[in-house]
Amino acid sequence: RSPPNSILPPILELRNFKKNDFEADWTKVAERSFSKVYRVKLKLWREKCALKSFDTSLSVNNFYRRMTEEASEIAEAKIKYIVSIFGLCSDPTAVVMEYMSNGSLDLLLVSHTLMWPKKFQMIHEVTMGMNFLHSMSPSMLHLNLKTSNLLLDDHLHVKISDFGLIKWEEDLKKTFLEHLTARGNISYVPPETFSMSPEAPGAAFDVYSFSIVMWEILTQQRPYPGRSVTTVLVQVSGGKRPGLDMVPDDKPHECDQMIDIMEQCWDQDLNKRPQFADIVSKTEALSEVLKIPGINQPGPEKPQPTIPPEKIIFTDMPDLPPGSTKMLSFLKKKDFLSFRQS
Ligand code: ATP
Ligand code: MG
Repeated sequence: RSPPNSILPPILELRNFKKNDFEADWTKVAERSFSKVYRVKLKLWREKCALKSFDTSLSVNNFYRRMTEEASEIAEAKIKYIVSIFGLCSDPTAVVMEYMSNGSLDLLLVSHTLMWPKKFQMIHEVTMGMNFLHSMSPSMLHLNLKTSNLLLDDHLHVKISDFGLIKWEEDLKKTFLEHLTARGNISYVPPETFSMSPEAPGAAFDVYSFSIVMWEILTQQRPYPGRSVTTVLVQVSGGKRPGLDMVPDDKPHECDQMIDIMEQCWDQDLNKRPQFADIVSKTEALSEVLKIPGINQPGPEKPQPTIPPEKIIFTDMPDLPPGSTKMLSFLKKKDFLSFRQS
């Protein structure tokens, strides 16, 4: 801790919760091989939270000990583009965080068709969050950036979650890739990680993962469908990437600039990939161009969007009572997004 009267800011600490701090009824939201996510209610705050519990016996390394060590860094990551972490729980071993009512982006991308302004806005929100993490001091790498770690708030804005959970350690270097593939992350892993003796990952690792996230948002498809981990590994090492022909034909002409950014971000040479600090001003400008006044803000005339009016999504959502069903059906009614037919 900082001594009294120090000019240094105090070190932030995460709260330590116990099972008894939550109401008894826990609703399971999702279950994965390494973790379970529950919706819980904190007795003290009367607030819904998400509790992500870890199966410590399956964990490659002692997650809880490491989370405690990293706690102050994670607690400092506070911005609207990042899911807030409220604390840790020791029994069960878990992270307690903000509950995101609309789930994760991977699910939304298969269930709904997003209009172009919304796609651009979501991409920009991811760059805002990633730029924040990378510009922390010291810089915080995500290393697990994927569409299931992009969560949606009551108004379908994106927040980044599960950052800083995966760590690189020299003595675990061999199991790093195994750990990532076991989580189903192979599509998001940059080719340099596949070498026999990979270097410690840097910011360019996350930039590569971001390019795949961009492709998924633009195309609403899953990369490399039906291909085995080994095939993906061999093909990506050889320079192959998800197809640009999957980007829908009704794309606005600004989409070509988004595609340029995406291609730079998945460059085979990690030194040629841009930094989030460079990307963020470009995605900001592109999402501004497609943005049109929301229902609550008639606003001045804006440049004409290049997409048919019936396909336009309002990027600034009106205030509605929180709740996923209400919000999604409202959006559907207004044709901001539609259920996918497949
Ligand atoms: P990883 O452990 O590598 O992050 P994952 O993202 O697939 O893998 P979880 O983080 O356990 O797995 O999340 C599983 C699902 O739980 C998410 O896809 C999302 O739908 C839901 N979820 C996770 N965190 C929250 C949250 N804070 N609020 C609401 N739902 C959440
Ligand atoms: Mg996750």
